[in-house]
Amino acid sequence: MTAALDHRELYRLPWTLPDNAIAWLEPTMKCNLACEGCYRANVNEHKSLEQVAKDLDVFARYRKADGVSIAGGDPLTHPQVVDIVRMVAARGWKPILNTNGLALTEDLLREMKRAGLFGLTFHVDSKQHRPKWKNKTEQEHNALRLQFAEMVARVGGLTCSFNATVYEDTLDCIPDLVDWAQEHIDIVHVMVFICYREPVETKRFDYYVGGGKVDMAALAYATSGQRIDISAHDVVAKIRERAPDFAPAAYLNGTEKPDSFKWLLSVRLGTRKRIYGYLGRKMVELAQVWHHLRTGTYMAYAAPAISRRGRAMLLLWPFDRGLRRVFLRALLSPSLLFRRLYLQSIMVISPVDVLADGRQNMCDGCPDMTVWDGALAWSCRLEECIHFGQFARTVPKAQAAQC
Ligand code: SF4
Repeated sequence: MTAALDHRELYRLPWTLPDNAIAWLEPTMKCNLACEGCYRANVNEHKSLEQVAKDLDVFARYRKADGVSIAGGDPLTHPQVVDIVRMVAARGWKPILNTNGLALTEDLLREMKRAGLFGLTFHVDSKQHRPKWKNKTEQEHNALRLQFAEMVARVGGLTCSFNATVYEDTLDCIPDLVDWAQEHIDIVHVMVFICYREPVETKRFDYYVGGGKVDMAALAYATSGQRIDISAHDVVAKIRERAPDFAPAAYLNGTEKPDSFKWLLSVRLGTRKRIYGYLGRKMVELAQVWHHLRTGTYMAYAAPAISRRGRAMLLLWPFDRGLRRVFLRALLSPSLLFRRLYLQSIMVISPVDVLADGRQNMCDGCPDMTVWDGALAWSCRLEECIHFGQFARTVPKAQAAQC
């Protein structure tokens, strides 16, 4: 079943190449896990602080951003991760640590908070082959998610997000994860679902750099043959099987397909027991534009204090259809006006899709741009730059044979 989603009914997030919500710093290629579907070779190699500073210089030169995701590899394997957090914060960006959490301790978290950490995004799913979590289901991993969320809550003042890669055999688990996020809406601020992709399809395409054909087999991209066409439509349809009123508000389109949802954002208002409604597109637009007017950048992550202000937000009901629905529910059930209402975002991300003619449908206004050779580059396809010095072009095999 596909959900009826029309991009023209939603707000197009205003993120562009030079003016975006985030940038993506990779201080290390080392990781302490080997997740299926990872885009990066696991190499025991860290950047020096001087190299990190140069990457930050590139962001400063080319991109206005609210936050910098500190990723990798796993950034906690970098021995100077606290210094890196401090360097990002010192330049006025919100440092967001993207980690699998394996090497995280509460002491280290407190140290990073003192250095200016704004929040964390934990990658947790059942295809990471974690020690002690092997053969556990996606739902059983909620216990691990909760451990991390509670640690972040104890330290306090940090945003807490989770992302999970969605595979064909875990698609059915999504409603349970969405429910789990609701049960912890007071300490879990963002839930991200990333549709599984394999950037290399050697059955359909040949790959070229310059005029020459290249062998992609050496790249770390996964080639397991799993389903790679799970879309945001599929994820929304799955969520709506249990929450029929689930309502996305904003999106990023693809570079080649204007109606594709590469990033699809929903923001819900509720308590641990009940979701009362969803922000509409006007409210998301207002939040982005207001943030840009105030700070000069589009908003990446809201502080936890803002996520607790769902009730105050109801005052803006005249501007937004989604808020009006929640406001009407409040009139019918006035006790709602005395309860704390939380905001929680649910994002669905669909990385590269290769169209039949070889065009690569990337995220238009990619937030996760990292640095290669002094310029901005898609982080999800950086292996091509590392191996070939530039991104590869995809050419259908039949077309290549005619040349
Ligand atoms: S283009 Fe790639 S790196 Fe950029 S946001 Fe999309 S998936 Fe992420």
